[in-house]
Order: sequence, then structure tokens, then C-alpha cells
Amino acid sequence: MSELGNIVAVMVGVAVEGPYSYRVPDGMVVERGSIVEVPLGPRQIMGVVWGEPKDMVAHNRLRDIAVKFDVPPLSGELVDMIDWVARYTLASPGMVMRAVMRSREALDPPRPIIAYRFEGEEPQRMTDARQRVLELLDDGMAWAKAALVGASGVSPSVIDGLVKQGVLTQVELPPPPAVLPPDPDHAPIDLNPVQQEALSQIRELDVQKFGVALLDGVTGSGKTEVFFEAVADTLRAGRQALVLLPEIALTHTFLDRFESRFGARPAEWHSDMTPVQRARVWRSVLTGEARAVVGARSALFLPFHELGLIVIDEEHDGAFKQSDGVNYHARDMAVVRANLADARVILSSATPSVESRNNADQGRYKHVRIDVRHDDAQLPDITALDMREEGPDKGDWIAPALARDIFAALDRGEQALLFLNRRGYAPLTLCRACGHQYQCPDCSSWLVEHRFRGVLQCHYCGHEVRRPEVCGQCGEKDSLVPIGPGIERVAEEAARRFPNARRVILSSDMGTTGQIKERFAEIARGDYDLIIGTQLVAKGHHFEKLTLVGVLDADLGLAHGDPRAAEKTFQLLTQVTGRAGRAARSGKAYLQTYHPEHPVMQAMVKGDREGFYAHEIKVREEGGLPPFGRLAALIISASEHEAALGHARHLLGKAPQAEGVRLFGPADAPVAMVRGRHRIRLLVQSPKTFDLSSYVRFWLTGADKPTGNLRVQVDIDPVSFY
Ligand code: ADP
Ligand code: ZN
Repeated sequence: MSELGNIVAVMVGVAVEGPYSYRVPDGMVVERGSIVEVPLGPRQIMGVVWGEPKDMVAHNRLRDIAVKFDVPPLSGELVDMIDWVARYTLASPGMVMRAVMRSREALDPPRPIIAYRFEGEEPQRMTDARQRVLELLDDGMAWAKAALVGASGVSPSVIDGLVKQGVLTQVELPPPPAVLPPDPDHAPIDLNPVQQEALSQIRELDVQKFGVALLDGVTGSGKTEVFFEAVADTLRAGRQALVLLPEIALTHTFLDRFESRFGARPAEWHSDMTPVQRARVWRSVLTGEARAVVGARSALFLPFHELGLIVIDEEHDGAFKQSDGVNYHARDMAVVRANLADARVILSSATPSVESRNNADQGRYKHVRIDVRHDDAQLPDITALDMREEGPDKGDWIAPALARDIFAALDRGEQALLFLNRRGYAPLTLCRACGHQYQCPDCSSWLVEHRFRGVLQCHYCGHEVRRPEVCGQCGEKDSLVPIGPGIERVAEEAARRFPNARRVILSSDMGTTGQIKERFAEIARGDYDLIIGTQLVAKGHHFEKLTLVGVLDADLGLAHGDPRAAEKTFQLLTQVTGRAGRAARSGKAYLQTYHPEHPVMQAMVKGDREGFYAHEIKVREEGGLPPFGRLAALIISASEHEAALGHARHLLGKAPQAEGVRLFGPADAPVAMVRGRHRIRLLVQSPKTFDLSSYVRFWLTGADKPTGNLRVQVDIDPVSFY
């Protein structure tokens, strides 16, 4: 701990460029990372001591730190990481700090449990009820009130009476731990030889030092089992471990697997927690009580003190990129944090991002491969169905060849999955009489019909209208027709064509998280024969009886002006077809496509993932696209198109010249309006080694600040291009 003087810099969670100076009152001792409360204007707010003050401020103008909380300080590496993320993403450090300091309640000591003990002095008047209570307490142990009421069956007032008379004394017990410690040696699994080899390669990374491994193995090869052993090594070394998953993959199944391996559940961190649960977990990570955390991307900002390992499972997943508020990529920032914390990183995927593949090819990451499925289960046999020649009959979405195999699978008592990555009934509704197409009033997007709920909904802003009976434009009755399929429409066809199959439809809007988890458990039990789902089903679920997958629109991801379109499509198709045929049964998958000759479809059909990466890496290199060049997107938005475009042109005029930097735009963003705001995009492309963050910061500093309702959002390394 470095000595700080009696004036210190304190970072507060507001959008300002840096920390403010405060005086440390007599008798208070703070260090870098100390969590405090300081006056700011008329309020008191939470802050973190950042270090020495940057500017000298007249002493008499400073205000005092009001409170120093009785918790350990944030670790130095975390404070450094906040600065790093802020510099890189162009967010203000105060806003990044807010991602860390999520819970004010976590700073108060956990409330003790009030309990009662019998000291031996009997009450003057004994009743049956009193007798029952005292018998329970006869062993001299302290009981919590609720437990005492429950066990004795008396009313709480009986206990209050005994306390008042001094027969029972009140004691305070420490609260139970938020989590139990995981035991690295609880139930290690016998790894097969290939997995064993993968583990020993990971073990070549020193458990006390920074290092990154790309765990690159086909679906079902046992990557989870392998990284669990790395978690165990970390725990044995006395360090904390963090496993990050896409929120959607953070399931009971995963937590149960962790528990069977380590004998205790990990601390969890995701959006579905109550504030009280959050506070308990946050605090237990800070105090070191929690040794292992499994969480969604924001768990990266938890206040670990002894972080020794970060696993990013499904590292290629777009869900690791946060795209509102602070635009950070949890996979990339995990590598940054691990570097600052001298920790290891394992990036695990069956379809690594091109970025990580390239880092492994270049030797920056250790490339650990597992090429065979556990128990020699075969990868599915994949067939592309050319929609122009073998497509479905008019009005249907399921091609004849696929339908035949669904019947066959059902006959064998196996499960089939129909995959379409589109929620709702139909992506577009139009009026047969006048041609009117239903569009969101606030966004440039069609309204998607959700027939089940009887509404038309915008998938960008959530705007909903009841499905009209008459066309709002021409007044014609019953004239609306749905165009194109969503999964509800596929489910309708499935009901017609496979009436005897037990069917289930699954997408994120089909119930609460709890209900969806329940559906997954039912599928795993074999309660359904035919599953119709979106990418919700594609990720992280193993269904023993599932042997057939039909992808109804394999081209869905290819149409966008997104440099990662091919990669994303390849990843999703690999993932969803990989659901077929685990365990002992071999699987089959169909891709319905209009582009059977596309490199993605070819790679899928031939099972040639190496071929795909080689091709994709070549394309990226030639185009100077990530990871061979860098991109930043600036979205300039305003309620008036003119204002947004005007400011974008102004920015373009102010862009500094730099070698190798190219600017594209301004142009309407692919989704040109969202929530009533017009969106103009500027795209910056730079060489790989160029400091794009500093360039954009310098650029914006020299340009007019946006005024009125104008907004400029900067996205370094954008992942979505809408
Ligand atoms: P991945 O993460 O690569 O998709 P998993 O770790 O989920 O693969 O393994 C797939 C299935 O095979 C799981 O049900 C897992 O329990 C089982 N499995 C993998 N390796 C072993 C092993 N060595 N012994 C027993 N079961 C294993
Ligand atoms: Zn909308």
C-alpha cells in the first residue's frame, strides 16, 4: 500500500473525465481503492479513492470524505482496469466505475441473525406453550426466532413474553455464508487421453502468471470438463476463478455440473438476481469468501482480490459485447484484466472468433485443440438443401427431404429440432388490397406479427399494436397477409404435418426465465418429440435423444453489411447442427439455403472448419478488416435527420489526417431510425497497430460538442453493424 497524503483523488460514478479531490479527515486512513462516500453538490455519493490528486487545489476549498466503508479496498488491478477500459472505449472512468460499484447495500455489514438462548432461570408462571419452547432450548444452544416458532408451534408472542421476563436472552449470530467453498478435489472426472493432453497444455501456463489459452474443440469434446480442471488448479493455488458465459447459456444444467464437480454451487452473477442476492455475492467476492464465480459478462467487473483464472465459455459469442452505456467486449477486456492481475485466461469455443484463431495462429495464445467428441460420438452428417430446387411446397417452410427425415426420427422415438432464428409469426405484414406494409412509427423496421399474443411488434424498440382487423390504410376488412416465416408460423405447419408429435416452441419471448428453464428440463427428459426454436435452443444444451436438426433459413445471417456475417453464420450453424447426435446416436442436419455454393455452406457440408478459417482469414486480411485492421463506428443520432447529418458532416470535416486511416460515410445507418432517432454512421478503418481510441478521442476534442438532442456514440471494435 502506498502512503497517500491528506488530499486524495476520488472517482465518483458520474460521467466526468476524471476524479475529484477530497480531504481525508483526521483519524481516517485511506488507500488506493478504498470505498468511500463523498459530498458532491447537495448529495452524498459513493466513490473510490483513486490515488494522489492530479491538480493542486487550495486546501480550504476542499470538502472532506464523509465515510470510509469497512470493507477491503478494490484491488489495484481493478482500479487500473477501470482506467484502461475507459481509455479504450472512450467512456468516462466514472461510468466504467459504475459497472463495478453496482450495489450500495453490499457495503453495509451483513445483518446478524437474532437468536435466543435459555439461561436456566424458569419463568414465574409456566404454561404448556412456554414449556415447549424451553424444552427445545434446554441444550443451551441459541435458536433463531423463526426456527423456534416453527419447531415449537407456539405463537411468536410467547417467545416475546419470555424475552421480556428475562427468561430468554437475545444473542446475535453471524449470518450464514453467501456461498460455500468449492472443493477442487471433490469429484474430479477421468479425462480421456485427448482431454488429458489438452489439460497438460493448459497447465504449461503458470498459474501465477498471465497467459492465454484458446481451447478449441468440437461441440461435445469435453471442453467444460477440461476447464473445470483448470478452475481446480486455480483454487488449489489459493486464487479465485471466474467463468463467464453468455447469459443464455447460464443454466441450471451448467451450475449443477459445477456443483457435482466441486461439491458446492458457485457464486452466480446475472441479470436475474435480486438486489439482496447481488449485494451478498458482490461482498463475498470482495472479502474473498467466494472462490469461484459463474456469471454473465458484467461479472468481469466484480471486485476480486485474488483473481487467478478467467474462463470465457463460447468466447466467440456476440453476447460478450455490451453495446449500451460502456461499449466494452468482455472477452477482450478479460484478457486486459488478466494481464493486470497476473492471471490466466481460457477462451473456449467450438467455433472460435477469427480474432482469437488468429492470435493462436500467431503464437500469442496457446492453441489447445480437442478434435474428437467424447465417447467417439460422430459429428452430424450435414446436407445443404437448395431451396431453388428442393425447396418446400408453396405455403410451407419445411422441405420434403427434411420432412421425411423428421417422420423417420419420430418413428425411432428420437427428437428433432426445427431451427429458425426469428421470433414471432411473420416478419412482415401487408394489406392484400392496398399493399400497405406495417412499419414501426419510430424505427425503420417492419412490425413482426406475434399471433400467439395477437400483436404486431417492433423488435428494435418493443412498440406494439394489436393486430388490426381492418387495414389502417385502406379500410379493407380481413385483408392482412403475413409474409415470411417466424417460429410461430413454423409451429403451425408442424402441427399440421406432424400432428402426433409432442411439440414445443421455444424463444426468448415465450415466458419467464423460470418457465423457459422448465421447458429445457422437459425436453431433456424426453417429454417432447419436436422442438421448434430460435437460437435460445442452439446454445449449450445437450439433449440425448436429439438426432435431427433442420435449419429452415441457413442464409439468415449472410444478408447484412456486416464484416463478420460469414463468421457469425458459420458459428451459429455449427452450434445448432452440433445439437444433433450426441451420446451414442449419430445425428443428421439439413441446411435450407439459396446459396449452397457459399463458402460457409460448403465448409458446413464438408465438415471443413479449417477450410472455413483459412478462407475467412484470407478475406479479412485482404480487406484490412479485423483482426488485420481496426474499426470504430460513430453513430450520430438526433430526432431530426438534418441535424444528425449536419453534425456528421461537421465531424468528417474535423477528422485529423493520419497515415492509413480511412473514413467511410456519413451515411444512413443500416437501421436508419430507432426509437424516433435518425442514425447516421461514420466508420473509421485503421491499420492494426494504430491507436484508434486516442485518434477518435483527439478528433472529438477538436470538434464541436453535440448540442440539443444530438448524440455521438463511439463504438471501438464494433460487433454489430445495424
Ligand atoms: P463441450 O464443452 O466441449 O461441448 P462437454 O464438456 O459439455 O463438452 O462434454 C460433453 C458431454 O460429454 C458432457 O455430458 C460431459 O459430461 C461428457 N464428458 C466429456 N468428457 C467426459 C469424460 N472424460 N468422462 C465422462 N464424461 C465426459
Ligand atoms: Zn420501433
